[in-house]
Amino acid sequence: RSMSSVTVPPPACLLRPLEAPLRYLFGPGPSNVPPRVLAAGGRPIIGHLHPEMYGIMNDIKKGIQYAFQTENKMTISMSGSGHAAMECAVFNAVEPGESVLVAVNGIWGERVAEIAERMGANVHKMVKAPGGYFTNKEIEQAVEKHKPVLFFLTHGESSAGLCHPMDGIGDICRKHNCLFLVDTVASLGAAPIYMDKQSIDILYTGSQKALNAPPGTAPISFNERACQKMFNRKTKPVSYLFDMTHLSNYWGCDGKPARAPSDIALPGPYVESLAILAETGLEESWRKHKEVSGYLQRGLEDLGLKLFIPERDLRLPSVTTIAIPEGYDWREMLVYIMKNHQMEMTGGLGPSIGMVMRIGLMGYNCEKTNADMALQALADALKNCKKTRG
Ligand code: PMP
Repeated sequence: RSMSSVTVPPPACLLRPLEAPLRYLFGPGPSNVPPRVLAAGGRPIIGHLHPEMYGIMNDIKKGIQYAFQTENKMTISMSGSGHAAMECAVFNAVEPGESVLVAVNGIWGERVAEIAERMGANVHKMVKAPGGYFTNKEIEQAVEKHKPVLFFLTHGESSAGLCHPMDGIGDICRKHNCLFLVDTVASLGAAPIYMDKQSIDILYTGSQKALNAPPGTAPISFNERACQKMFNRKTKPVSYLFDMTHLSNYWGCDGKPARAPSDIALPGPYVESLAILAETGLEESWRKHKEVSGYLQRGLEDLGLKLFIPERDLRLPSVTTIAIPEGYDWREMLVYIMKNHQMEMTGGLGPSIGMVMRIGLMGYNCEKTNADMALQALADALKNCKKTRG
């Protein structure tokens, strides 16, 4: 009788078929992706040093430059979700002990403040309640007071549904010799952003929202000012993986032969999603998100629901937030909608938990027919989940 050498048996759960039901992903991301992007995931794997891979990486870089509206050479995509780009930006641009200013009006500012604190920065926060926004005057006063090397602002605050105004802030940062870092994970492709024209020094996004790829890659771009700062540091960044001296070389941004290769995540689906954006055109993509989100907002108001962001122009076109209706338990409504409509909507996140419910219609999902389905599901939940039934 032969004795098995393994003491840990194959897990029974892996011997069952994979369970991945088709759902309507109408939350703040990930979003459903077009069949073309899914199919690209089934293409053959290419080695990370093959000429075709450098071709794909170049296509990705060009696609990001278009999506960001930038000519920056230092434009790459990180392997990792949006958080990877957040950490890459902070780790490379800031040295321990330096002053960082973070605008907090939802979870993403809180998160960046924590990342900067962990790497030893001297963090100052400007705080507003979820859904609040900062005037240029408030920003300038805080920059003058704290003299940060970096100012962080979220363009699309997905936890509150706010799209923050961007004009003039880059100039304020430039005047005070501070780098301007912007998070567009939830807004890129859905609301206008112009990295070069708006003097944004570091910009990043994610792949699984309006860009319609699976999660796992995060585009990031640094302009000349940002490169000057990050490549003239006294200390090495705390992370090896996210050190831009290696990443920029592998992505061909430093003009030298690649000497620090690393495998990249999801090249096929990702290049396909950027191709779709290039074919559609940014302006058409922005127009469509605005049209469909406006249609959804009117429908929500017709159901008697209250939108969380009162100022129409500040509503994020990709993620719409509604105030929790009185007499309802938001968790029960979301569970009801998932169970009866196979549809994901979500509650708040971080400081907006218990304040909002969130509906995301982005990229491929951004269609009036989907808005109608979401409205029907909500109407059904409003009818069936009321706490004080008469
Ligand atoms: N920033 C914003 C504005 C986001 O909406 C998200 C994801 N919800 C992130 C950052 C983090 O991205 P990820 O989940 O891909 O790590």
